Amino acid sequence: MTSGIFYFYSVNDLLRTPIEFLKGVGPKRAELLKKEIGVATFKDLLYYFPFRYVDRSTFKTIDSLLTADGPVQIKGRIVGINETGHGRNKRLNAIFQDQTGSINLVWFKGINWIRSSLKVNEEVVIYGRLKAYGGKWSMPHPEIINPSDLGNGLQPIYPSTEKLSANGLHSKGIEKLISELLLQPFSFEEKIPRDIVKDYNLPPELKAIHMVHHPVQLDDAKMGRFRFKLQELLLLQLELLLRKIVSSQKLGGHRFEVVGDHFNTFYKSHLKYELTNAQKRVLKEVRADVNSGHHLNRLVQGDVGSGKTLVALLTMLLSLDNGYQAAMIAPTEILAQQHYESIRDDLKEMDIEVALLTGSTKKKDRERIHEGLLSGDIDILIGTHALLEKTVQFKDLGIVVIDEQHRFGVAQRARMWKKNRVPPHILIMTATPIPRTLAMTYYGDLDVSVIDEMPPGRKPVTTTHSYESGRLRVFGFIREEIKKGRQVYFVYPLISESETLDFNNLMDGFNAISRAFPLPDYRVSIVHGKMKPEEKEFEMNRFVRGETQIMVATTVIEVGVNVPNASVMVIESAERFGLSQLHQLRGRVGRGAEQSYCILMTGDKLSKESQKRVQTMVQTNDGFKIAEVDLKLRGPGDIMGTQQSGLMNLRIADLTKDGPIVSIARQKAIAILESDPNLSKPEHFWLRKKLVHILQTKPDWGKIA
Ligand code: ADP
Ligand code: MG
Repeated sequence: MTSGIFYFYSVNDLLRTPIEFLKGVGPKRAELLKKEIGVATFKDLLYYFPFRYVDRSTFKTIDSLLTADGPVQIKGRIVGINETGHGRNKRLNAIFQDQTGSINLVWFKGINWIRSSLKVNEEVVIYGRLKAYGGKWSMPHPEIINPSDLGNGLQPIYPSTEKLSANGLHSKGIEKLISELLLQPFSFEEKIPRDIVKDYNLPPELKAIHMVHHPVQLDDAKMGRFRFKLQELLLLQLELLLRKIVSSQKLGGHRFEVVGDHFNTFYKSHLKYELTNAQKRVLKEVRADVNSGHHLNRLVQGDVGSGKTLVALLTMLLSLDNGYQAAMIAPTEILAQQHYESIRDDLKEMDIEVALLTGSTKKKDRERIHEGLLSGDIDILIGTHALLEKTVQFKDLGIVVIDEQHRFGVAQRARMWKKNRVPPHILIMTATPIPRTLAMTYYGDLDVSVIDEMPPGRKPVTTTHSYESGRLRVFGFIREEIKKGRQVYFVYPLISESETLDFNNLMDGFNAISRAFPLPDYRVSIVHGKMKPEEKEFEMNRFVRGETQIMVATTVIEVGVNVPNASVMVIESAERFGLSQLHQLRGRVGRGAEQSYCILMTGDKLSKESQKRVQTMVQTNDGFKIAEVDLKLRGPGDIMGTQQSGLMNLRIADLTKDGPIVSIARQKAIAILESDPNLSKPEHFWLRKKLVHILQTKPDWGKIA
């Protein structure tokens, strides 16, 4: 350090200086900065990045606006102001003019405050996006800028809040503070390993900070940001990989060395079809894991219908061959029941004891099962989360298969681990297609296998969209399918916030369908969340056996149910379902040799997003493509649910957009750990220090995932 009062500060001290001491801040603003945007120190403010930049050097003219997309900047004057409507419909309108024409500006909120700040007939610059209202163009909530505040070139725009703005810390105010801050003599050690810096020509940290705050051109900002995103994601990937290594090595696992009678007999004599290459490959990956002496923590991702159950079954047989039991957990009772029946059927000619345990298993049976598990008489246990209960103990459990894990929390997985002295291997099956780069992060501590091939002979499901007005035609089509001997699902949305409404909706639908498809020619089943498990099972089984041709249901059938003869899936109010749910539901048909159909029924008015979802479904059957669109529409948090939240809080990178950087980070993280497993090279010191800190502050994590 060389200059001024910071002479005696070390690098870190300067970064840790409370923001209060920055020129122009003081105690009051410091308090606000901390409360409103979490900025407490010099460091926090340095990394408080603009969310966009405005090119202050170019303006559009009003007559050219129709060809503009994205936000535009126009110089002109406000020539008239008026208010319309009352209460919640109140609007503030202003007519804005330049030499080429005029447009309407409109505000729905903060009307009084904005009205008092608008100046008529003075030159101002407006910035915003055009929207069409009732056939006319207008600009809602434009930013109004004093031309003298416009710098040259790119102006950074910082996120601010109402309270900060009221205290002079709107974007412009924050920009001033940051300019002041950048005068401080910061210096940084290089955190990113030399090779990576070189490969990507990364600017040094301090330079990158300047590039992000004050870019000369947009590419500078992008490059600066790239550096920080890569830094952040590299650290995250290293963390995830270390957790994976630590848990697999520290825990150790049963070694399934032999491929014995169970596996071989089944494979040679009872397999109904040739495994797909993808199934073979995944099985090989799993076998390598369970024969390694390490603990298996593998996620098998495969689209609905790709044949995950068979891979699970073969793995369980491997466990039996090595003297261990196996268990499989399904998210719903119906699904557990189905797995139980199909697996028992698959194994009927073999001497293997399979049991089913769910919440509705009778006490007497339950006791019998508990005994059988302890004595080892039961080889394979299939069930729901009832299986997690402490009273369920095994003689020696080798592996747990968890089907459709997105319904199972991390903590529940951990409970399975505790069922044995040596924790059983964990194999997770999921049909929730998530983009690869997201998987690398959310499942970064697991090994991931992908079944990316469908069993042969499947015809892709034909998907169509119908408005309510086309319902009669849809019904006509369904009658023909039923005449051919096919079965049909009608699925209704169920959202817990409005359960009663949804329920009424379902019952109305059921009644309408029963009238349109009357006895004796048609028989209609119904399954919904308010029914008792036995009732659900009874109805479901009637449908499975083909005694009813139509199944009216809520999303309880979403996961895993297998009725190959069902060829039509009608999704009612399809606009209310998310993409991945629509895709899951569609996966219920197209399981047999017949051409299948998915019909998305919607109301006439669709939001842009619903339109996009419906369109995507009509256009593609590819779960991964759908996942990509879903990710763009919803963001990663919503896709994974809250279950994984808290695992990572990325400050700069955005998993929705930064997929390619995630890939780079993953690749580099693997390379780093291969060449320097203990991170003991000097250029890895910073990473090591940081990771030790992270792993120590979240200690229990290694035990669960
Ligand atoms: P998911 O991956 O959705 O769990 P399933 O395991 O339920 O899929 O398999 C879907 C259907 O495909 C089942 O009827 C199953 O018997 C069948 N199947 C699985 N593997 C094959 C294969 N290799 N060839 C033909 N059919 C298969
Ligand atoms: Mg399945």
